[in-house]
Amino acid sequence: MAVAVGKNVCPHCGSRLQKWRVPSGATWNTEFFLVCFSDQCPYYRNGWTWMKAQFNQHASYRYVLNPTTGVGSMIPVWSDDATRELIVEAGDG
Ligand SMILES: [Zn+2]
Repeated sequence: MAVAVGKNVCPHCGSRLQKWRVPSGATWNTEFFLVCFSDQCPYYRNGWTWMKAQFNQHASYRYVLNPTTGVGSMIPVWSDDATRELIVEAGDG
């Protein structure tokens, strides 16, 4: 299932998803994810509270779409800037 970058938006906040390179060594069997990098995303914002409450961790997660399977998931992050270095293509459509 091919998913075109730029036509996919986050179901939580409506932001356009950005193409993000899966780190080498990660267990996902796809080369890229489409990730919501909006710091206003409620999924991301609520994640800070949830991780603090559940694990006493300063961390959160962002919504991701696996373009190979079309399945939505999440990736853990530990700061607003974490994982941004792996954005390979801004979702300008
Ligand atoms: Zn979002």
